[in-house]
Amino acid sequence: AVARQGRERHYRLGVMGGTFDPIHHGHLVAASEVAAKFSLDEVVFVPTGVPWQKTHRNVTQAEDRYLMTVIATASNPRFSVSRVDIDRPGNTYTVDTLRDLRAERGDDVDLFFITGADAVRQILTWRGAEQLFDLAHFVGVTRPGVPMTEDDLAHLPSDKVTLLEVPALAISSTDCRTRVQRAEPIWYLVPDGIVQYIVKRGLYPHPETGVPVDN
Ligand code: ATP
Ligand code: MG
Repeated sequence: AVARQGRERHYRLGVMGGTFDPIHHGHLVAASEVAAKFSLDEVVFVPTGVPWQKTHRNVTQAEDRYLMTVIATASNPRFSVSRVDIDRPGNTYTVDTLRDLRAERGDDVDLFFITGADAVRQILTWRGAEQLFDLAHFVGVTRPGVPMTEDDLAHLPSDKVTLLEVPALAISSTDCRTRVQRAEPIWYLVPDGIVQYIVKRGLYPHPETGVPVDN
């Protein structure tokens, strides 16, 4: 017992960053699968403030994206949502997200940053890339339409990045937005409460007329 003193198991916190415009079942399955495989105690979803890679399109108000994330995760006792990115002024950088969460949760927490195959390849282009791997372990999950080989990861520190195959859900927020604009269904691609929230708030209106589509 003496030998174990001070070596209690660290709390294992998954961090799922995203624009969540809107959140969909691909995000939820990825988080759930990583939580199970990495024995995570909790996964915190962190909607971005201003996503610096998405300046070419109008991103939905942070408050709507935050509320959708809350609605979608509410039923899972291990899922939570953080406002750190939407409350921080300026562009969102993952290095700030991880620093803020560490400051909030303390040093006895191990962070696991969850990211899709498309994003994991770009990690080294992110701001503060040198520090990212000191702050968290990175879990790259497979994503349909994004081929990923070991070569794509060759430049990343192998002890800091793990690839995980998750059930393939060919769902993207871009496709969900387009579907809403075209009055096509998004049932079963996103949780029921998200379908209803999008209608209630008139999100993703027709691009020319600006009129919310009544699905
Ligand atoms: P958009 O089309 O607007 O970029 P998105 O569907 O890619 O939206 P994001 O909010 O950009 O959603 O993604 C947040 C994170 O979730 C990213 O790391 C992304 O790679 C991952 N992700 C998104 N969809 C899936 C999916 N279907 N399977 C696995 N990972 C996913
Ligand atoms: Mg994306």
